[in-house]
Amino acid sequence: MIERALKGGVHPDECKLTAPSPIENFPCPERLYVPLQQHLGRKARPMVKKGDVIAKGQKIGEADGFISANIHSPVAGKVKSIDKVMLPNGVFDDAVVIDVDQESNSVAEPTWPLKPVDDLTPDDIRTIAREAGIVGLGGATFPTAVKLSPPENVKIDTLIINGAECEPYLTADHRLMLEHTDEVIRGAELVRRAVGAEKVFVGIEKNKPDAIKKFDGILKRKDGWEVVALKSVYPQGAEKNLIKVITGREVPVGGLPFNVNVAIQNVGTVYSLYRAASEGIPLIERVVTVSGDGVKKPGNFRIPFGVMAREVLEHCEARFGEIEKVIFGGPMMGMSIKGYDVPVIKSTSGILCFVKAVRREPYGCLNCGRCVEVCTLHIAPTRVVKLVRAAKWDEVKKAGIMNCMECGCCAYVCPSKIPLVQWIRYGKFMLRKMEAQR
Ligand code: SF4
Ligand code: SF4
Repeated sequence: MIERALKGGVHPDECKLTAPSPIENFPCPERLYVPLQQHLGRKARPMVKKGDVIAKGQKIGEADGFISANIHSPVAGKVKSIDKVMLPNGVFDDAVVIDVDQESNSVAEPTWPLKPVDDLTPDDIRTIAREAGIVGLGGATFPTAVKLSPPENVKIDTLIINGAECEPYLTADHRLMLEHTDEVIRGAELVRRAVGAEKVFVGIEKNKPDAIKKFDGILKRKDGWEVVALKSVYPQGAEKNLIKVITGREVPVGGLPFNVNVAIQNVGTVYSLYRAASEGIPLIERVVTVSGDGVKKPGNFRIPFGVMAREVLEHCEARFGEIEKVIFGGPMMGMSIKGYDVPVIKSTSGILCFVKAVRREPYGCLNCGRCVEVCTLHIAPTRVVKLVRAAKWDEVKKAGIMNCMECGCCAYVCPSKIPLVQWIRYGKFMLRKMEAQR
């Protein structure tokens, strides 16, 4: 085992209240709202219509292009309609509304070959990832099959399995690593085979000593595999940061991990890949942490996609009358949702519910430089924001705004409470818009 630490970043209160809570299966409600856009890339095309009787695991949305992902039904039931629902980002989009048949045991045959996992070839593994609708579950939801297909002239020598889970409150990956250690390792082995990496690192923050111990106990006997115990700091789990911390390599601006001969996958992603390969189960559910002072019964739940936040919060005895804020994801990078009728989707690592949201009234910039110090991507947020406010778009671009991962560290440390990330998002939006109009 080796030890590493990210330079820069911040140390928010960890608040990992649900770390001791074993994963529970969430009781399936009577109706699911399964969006066709749950991933980065193009929306899936619907494959069912009103009145269709469907089986659990049946493909109901077909990937539309290379960067897209299939969508499967988490339950057996009947299609009620295809309707618009609000996604966590506030956009309304199509969802397959399914009336659940609680009595039915109907399960769809997988659309990929089921054979002993040791016999799977790299092409088989890519087919499984594509067919089973596997996407990156660390938050980015990039289709995994694409990440398993680096350009032919690129040699991937290193695979990193991301178990950092550096966002406060979230403990879903922690529980998965503790309760499904073997499956995570076997899933990582499939990714290693698909990309041809010789060396595998499993990065876990030191605030999860039980997970580090479990993985190290198994991996120290496995040639080419190593656990990296990471000093806890946010945003260590961001891909570019973790690659730098573990390998010392810097992904270029606008580049991808394969540019530095690295593949990186989240623990939840490799676990899902292994389930698809070994049991024929597509990606139809995930582990979600439900926490915050707005719920009386927090926990880690395996929730089918399409369950509404309202139902999750009712189950966890939310203090509805007092809630000020509900966040999908972690408190640093997650999205604050509008209302409770937003379904759990592939990117939903957490549902955080707060009674007392911190109110931040902004003051003028003090030129203290704290935002510059914490930015792990060497962006000068104060300068970028001043340029955005002055609409100096050429200079905004040159200042590296597009490299910003919106981790929120700069806004977190700003003593003047300037909403730096909101300004940066606005600047990126404007640049993309101008680019599209050219
Ligand atoms: S500028 Fe972007 S990457 Fe840097 S700290 Fe702020 S949000 Fe994070
Ligand atoms: S942290 Fe806030 S006050 Fe300090 S330089 Fe950055 S923007 Fe200005």
